[in-house]
Amino acid sequence: MTNREVELLAVGAGPSNLGLAVALEELAPDLAENSLIIDRCQRIEWQRGMLLPWATSQVSFLKDLVTQRNPRSKFSFLNHLHATGRLDDFINMGSFTPYRVEISEYLRWVAGSLTKVGKELGRDCVSIEPQRDTGGTLTGWRTTLADDTSISSRYLAIGIGRDPHIPQVLAGLPANRIIHSTQFRQRVAELPKERPYRIAVVGSSQSAAEMFRALRDDLPDSEVAWVMRAIGLSGDESSKFTNELYYPSFVDQFFAARPEAREQILREMHRTNYSCLTPATLESLYEDRYLDRLGRPTGNRLITMVDITAAREVADGVVLELTDRRTGAVTELRRDLVLLGTGFARETPRLIRRLADAIGLDRVDVTRQYRLILDEPSAAACYLQGANEATHGIADSLLSVLAHRAEEITRDILAHRAGRADRDHGHARRRGEAVAVGQSSA
Ligand SMILES: Cc1cc2nc3c(=O)[nH]c(=O)nc-3n(C[C@H](O)[C@H](O)[C@H](O)COP(=O)(O)OP(=O)(O)OC[C@H]3O[C@@H](n4cnc5c(N)ncnc54)[C@H](O)[C@@H]3O)c2cc1C
Repeated sequence: MTNREVELLAVGAGPSNLGLAVALEELAPDLAENSLIIDRCQRIEWQRGMLLPWATSQVSFLKDLVTQRNPRSKFSFLNHLHATGRLDDFINMGSFTPYRVEISEYLRWVAGSLTKVGKELGRDCVSIEPQRDTGGTLTGWRTTLADDTSISSRYLAIGIGRDPHIPQVLAGLPANRIIHSTQFRQRVAELPKERPYRIAVVGSSQSAAEMFRALRDDLPDSEVAWVMRAIGLSGDESSKFTNELYYPSFVDQFFAARPEAREQILREMHRTNYSCLTPATLESLYEDRYLDRLGRPTGNRLITMVDITAAREVADGVVLELTDRRTGAVTELRRDLVLLGTGFARETPRLIRRLADAIGLDRVDVTRQYRLILDEPSAAACYLQGANEATHGIADSLLSVLAHRAEEITRDILAHRAGRADRDHGHARRRGEAVAVGQSSA
């Protein structure tokens, strides 16, 4: 097995770690020169499974990888438009929310514009182990890739997104009958188009809605049943007031809040981001429904207020047992394919949990600066991006805070490197003391 060494390895080349790469190039060029960002995919794409031609971003283009932190940066979305000759078109469009494909192109452009941070695609990280010196002190990380090579690093930034949520009742169905939204575009593209499919879309999320809508073009002869627990489709509850809670500055307030206050905030903000649809999506779905009723009715329908209480494979597909929440009546739905708009697991991603086990941690916690709390003295550090909703708030998995987060992580690494940061936040935790906000900013 060949092993290489870099100072900082960033696993995952999504917006989080690309934002970090930009911050490294701008704020810590010598560290950037010895940093590497890897991704398991051969091509940088944003939310590749749901990269639908008409889907738009839900946040302003100004929440790109850098503008909120450094509006003069050459890595901004606006500079990307300028550099690629699209600025006039974008201005003329008059929209704050670019198409998802535009954000994806922007991410690829940023990756291609990095001059210091190394970038390798098609590198699937399968495990990460702590490395220790002869005295047992943690000195770094050994990241093993699917091709059996490994990379050692003193610093690690994990930005791999979240694990797809597959409801337990459906987990036993054969893989060829189930498509999670994260695989939608690729898997549907592989299906023979000549036959009509009986399809169930599950969930009441934005992804479920987008799949339901996309099937009209992608598999137009199919008969689609959209199955959900909810009483129907609802719009998101965002307003300019609740959107202030997505400000990067709100992370401090959330982190400092008492546990019951954090719970309240997450509970009350839930419908600003989860199990809800954008107003534009609701409008367009309803328009389709109206026109279907006016013209040739399709077999497409919504089945609301049901639980999927069992699922089994049969000779020609799968059978979902639906229990009506109003009456308790049980019916069966025969399908060729089940499409899951069921979102993402709430738990910490598996790769990170396995790393925590290897370190000997009984739980995964991070400091305000996103540094994994290690519970032991350490010369190394590991940062988690996008996996800290419980401590850093609902915006943690979104674009809204990542430009600032990238700076906070960069400055924390610089402080740690210079020996200024408290190297063992875990000792504070053991003593029951709070980890102070902003304690290790350089
Ligand atoms: C369909 C959809 C639409 C969304 N739209 C918005 C929006 O409009 N606005 C918004 O703010 N947020 C949106 N989000 C939330 C989204 O999580 C963030 O926008 C953003 O993508 C988070 O970036 P990330 O880098 O943390 O994770 P991701 O974007 O998920 O990137 C993770 C990267 O890590 C790679 N990776 C994973 N595992 C490994 C491994 N083991 N080894 C190597 N590489 C690996 C993946 O290939 C991927 O490239 C959306 C999410 C979805 C699912």
